[in-house]
Amino acid sequence: MAIKELLKSRIKNRADLSSFKRKIAKKYKIQCPNNIELLKVYHELLKKKRVKKSVRVDEAKASSSASFLLRKNSLIENLLITRPIRSLSGIVNVSVLTKPYPCPGKCIYCPFEKGMPKSYLSGEPAAERAKRLKFNPYLQVKKRIEMLENEGHSTDKIELRIVGGTWSYYPKHYQNWFVKRCFEAGNNRNSKLKNRASIYGSEGEEEDKVLFACQNLKIIQRQNEKAKHRIVGLSVETRPDFITISEIKQLRKLGVTMVELGVQSIYDDVLRLNLRGHGVIETILATKLLKDAGFKVLYQMMPNLPGSDLKRDEKMFEEIFSNPDFQPDYLKIYPCALVKEAPLYKLYLKGKYKSYSKEKLINLIKKIKLKIPYYVRIQRITRDIPSKYIVEGGARISNLRQIVQEEMKKESLKCKCIRCREIREKYTSEEKIYLFREDYEASGGKEIFLSFENKNRQKLFSFLRLRIPAYALRVSAGKPSQNQKMSEDGPLAVFPVLKNAAIIREIQTFGEVVPIGAKKIAPQHRGLGKRLVKKVEKITKNEFGLNKIMVISGVGVREYWRKFGYKLRQTYMIKKI
Ligand code: SF4
Ligand SMILES: [Zn+2]
Repeated sequence: MAIKELLKSRIKNRADLSSFKRKIAKKYKIQCPNNIELLKVYHELLKKKRVKKSVRVDEAKASSSASFLLRKNSLIENLLITRPIRSLSGIVNVSVLTKPYPCPGKCIYCPFEKGMPKSYLSGEPAAERAKRLKFNPYLQVKKRIEMLENEGHSTDKIELRIVGGTWSYYPKHYQNWFVKRCFEAGNNRNSKLKNRASIYGSEGEEEDKVLFACQNLKIIQRQNEKAKHRIVGLSVETRPDFITISEIKQLRKLGVTMVELGVQSIYDDVLRLNLRGHGVIETILATKLLKDAGFKVLYQMMPNLPGSDLKRDEKMFEEIFSNPDFQPDYLKIYPCALVKEAPLYKLYLKGKYKSYSKEKLINLIKKIKLKIPYYVRIQRITRDIPSKYIVEGGARISNLRQIVQEEMKKESLKCKCIRCREIREKYTSEEKIYLFREDYEASGGKEIFLSFENKNRQKLFSFLRLRIPAYALRVSAGKPSQNQKMSEDGPLAVFPVLKNAAIIREIQTFGEVVPIGAKKIAPQHRGLGKRLVKKVEKITKNEFGLNKIMVISGVGVREYWRKFGYKLRQTYMIKKI
């Protein structure tokens, strides 16, 4: 019923779709249907020929009412496919949870539930899925691929995200096994999970370990370079005080390209009060080590912690983008969620803690969004904790991001972050594109963010992050400062190949692979990534006098870099220029 009403409706965008779903839920007294469920029903109706097959916009050229219907079905189908942005760039996200394991942290806001990794509660969609599969990495990746394929996504390129507690605290053999099994799942050509037993005999981790212990991670990664499902990016979440030189080495061995740091606050008194167990200096050092080794750095920030207030929270975000010691590339804003399962609840009962109200939180997030520079992507706002767990406050609103966006639109305010500018359905091949460059200082080095965008910078087509680490700057400048000398003890100690090299930390192109509605791509939109690479090779040589570029490439992207003449050395792709 809902699908038929949906196809008859006048839905034009995602906001319309959300309000339609709320109306349907109210009308039929059911839970708000999710996109996957609707898409499934839609495909079933298609099979039974009870609705008409949709076609691409460009194929439905005529202006008759029949073609209008076709166009509309196509639009709705696109709206229902979750994460169209990632799909457009041909990359899908897969999150996998590690097994329940203690965390060295005692953070007072962090919930603990038996049988779940620290900080996760059952009922969170990703956590539920993982629990059902006994936290088995192979099955989690396989299942997710299967789901995405059912939703109509291409699963050739996977951005893998490992979550759960503190990754660096898990034993090394578990880490190696876990990552190896994820790659194995990508390498297996059979995307359907028909018979689990035939895949590896048993669901038990121990048996799994024995079976696959003999297979070397390096070999499995090599296989993934040309596999059906290539892992093009790999991220883990960990604490800043666990980022050391040897940890950096281990992360590279595993193929990690991005690290999510649980920073939470940049105020020592707040960190102390919340029993974080580390100070701001650890965050500063971790950021520097990670960036100098080429990693992308994501900060998980937590406004509304005990000891902070609205003013300090606002200032905190101002500082992380004005102080070169911080400058994260990605941001997750997780307002503190007050749950009964965390020690913070006791403070609340004593009247010593209060959550921000919905209005206060919305206002704060709006202010934060206005401070975001062009080179940062807000990855997420609020955790996926079901609201039934959250005692009070604005953190209960699960669609906070959407509400903030709607309010900002009404007030003609714009967030400049990457996510808000990535091109989506708005792609037109006639659009003129321009090259932009942002230079900024970060952790003793120099960052250059190059991007192809439209004139008013509201549509982002492609971008690249180039870093000239402090140790390479020293070569070009001739005289080292004390700070720069210190940095030589950084990643160079374990990866001598980085010496005198500039680092490409990230490159992304949107809309180039499957531009919806465009049969032909205008010549100026072709090969944007290639043009950016050529450009930074020139910058590196001419402006910094360096003759080497290295890329922290995801395992599944190594082949791409080989086409540009890059070679694999010490886990990096390197080219002499
Ligand atoms: S470090 Fe992270 S997972 Fe561990 S207790 Fe603190 S918030 Fe929770
Ligand atoms: Zn944004």
